[in-house]
Amino acid sequence: MEKKDSTRPHVLIFPLPLQGPVNSMFKLAELLCLAGIHITFLVTDFIHTRLLRYTDIHSRFNRYPGFRLETISDGMPEDHPRGDRIMELFDSLKTNTKPLFKELLTTGSLGSDKGRPITCIIADGIMGFTCDVANEIGIPIIYVRTISACCLWVFFCLPNLIEAGELPFNGDDLDTPIKSVPGTENSLRIRDLPSFCRSGDICHPSIQLYKTERQELRRAYGLILNTFEDLEGPILSQMRTVCPNLYPIGPLHTHLKTKLAAESTSPAISSNSLWKEDKSCITWLDSQPPKSVIYVSFGSLAIMTRDQLMEFWHGLVNSGCKFLWVIRPDSVAGDSQIPAEVAEGTKERGYIVGWAPQEEVLAHPSVGGFLTHSGWNSTLESVIEGKPMICWPYFMDQQVNSRFVEEFWKLGLDMKDTCDRVIFEKMVKDLMVERRDEFMKSADQMARLGKKCLSEGGSSYCNLDRLIEDIKLMGVER
Ligand code: UDP
Repeated sequence: MEKKDSTRPHVLIFPLPLQGPVNSMFKLAELLCLAGIHITFLVTDFIHTRLLRYTDIHSRFNRYPGFRLETISDGMPEDHPRGDRIMELFDSLKTNTKPLFKELLTTGSLGSDKGRPITCIIADGIMGFTCDVANEIGIPIIYVRTISACCLWVFFCLPNLIEAGELPFNGDDLDTPIKSVPGTENSLRIRDLPSFCRSGDICHPSIQLYKTERQELRRAYGLILNTFEDLEGPILSQMRTVCPNLYPIGPLHTHLKTKLAAESTSPAISSNSLWKEDKSCITWLDSQPPKSVIYVSFGSLAIMTRDQLMEFWHGLVNSGCKFLWVIRPDSVAGDSQIPAEVAEGTKERGYIVGWAPQEEVLAHPSVGGFLTHSGWNSTLESVIEGKPMICWPYFMDQQVNSRFVEEFWKLGLDMKDTCDRVIFEKMVKDLMVERRDEFMKSADQMARLGKKCLSEGGSSYCNLDRLIEDIKLMGVER
């Protein structure tokens, strides 16, 4: 018998209001919709405006009658750069959004709609205020973190690093090995920790914030991670000693595609982009030879100087490889016009867009490698398509991710802390030509494992089933 709406599980999903987390949480929302769970997806007004402008989000989710999109203010002025001054965003969410969030759940439309009470909240673990509210009003909460497990584990270990005197770091040698992150076999160096660890100041706001993650995440019922056992198994085992109820259900974007294909729903290409996608690059890729193009993108937040831009530009042109490059309009401090000395090489071998349909680009047979800032979504999207990477991390988890890509997974090269045209040119040639077979072998193998864990009986498949069952039980118990 069909369940009455009042007992049907109804999850409120509240992602961190940035491109990466919003993107992956929409995939999770759709996976839960496919399992018959009602979803209310909460985004800030800022994100909502951009989704309306650049995506078909409403018509796409129309096929799920239990889905609805709600908005909330992030309390910041319209013209604030948000992601670029992330600590201010966190502060404003905590101060300004928290009371609105509580109001929404208690007296707002969600609270007063008795037909569909919220039975579970899924919120980003960095927004601890959501757990305060959930605990206060008695709704179970499951945290989600959209960064890598390896970086989250480093956050968990920050108190150990401090206790062992490895932080604050006041030395000069960034190659100093780190000993207090179990499971990394002394393969992490100071330079591989999130960049704020170099500040030399234990009171740095980021150290203060992230060193509490271990306690914070324990407050929730469990923790959803966008990763998979074959990629981060040893680190996940370490994490379980602290946070036993983990749900590693990634890579979410492919997990969704697999489920849609199994339902024989046409796996429509879905976009959650906060910028306008320029699809002309797919036509350009169609006319290139297999695996000949290096795709270049530094995600939605990274900003580079004009000097850095020039080093990359010369390196790319001098490598002789074809390249597809995303230069976001707001990603270069200063002028980003094509310099005369590389104009010819760019015309012959390059294609530049402001924002690309990245999943489609990485899946394209003409793409043979990826110069990335090592954002976690980009890393997973590359892993699943078997595309080796050159990593130029910008901040946060990216410093850790790039080390894992090179040292632990052998999926590419880490060029952190350098931005030199000659070094970069050599890396492109190594990745795309000289050492191509070696990288392709490990990339193919990991891509296979990434897909296998999503098929029946695979680790992410089973973990998603368990998550769905747990959510359903929460509905019954309330
Ligand atoms: N992305 C995209 N088009 C682009 C550049 C990026 O669609 O031109 C998407 C990419 O597929 C990924 C997200 O934006 O899903 C970026 O997230 P990531 O975690 O890699 O980095 P962040 O932007 O958070 O630094």
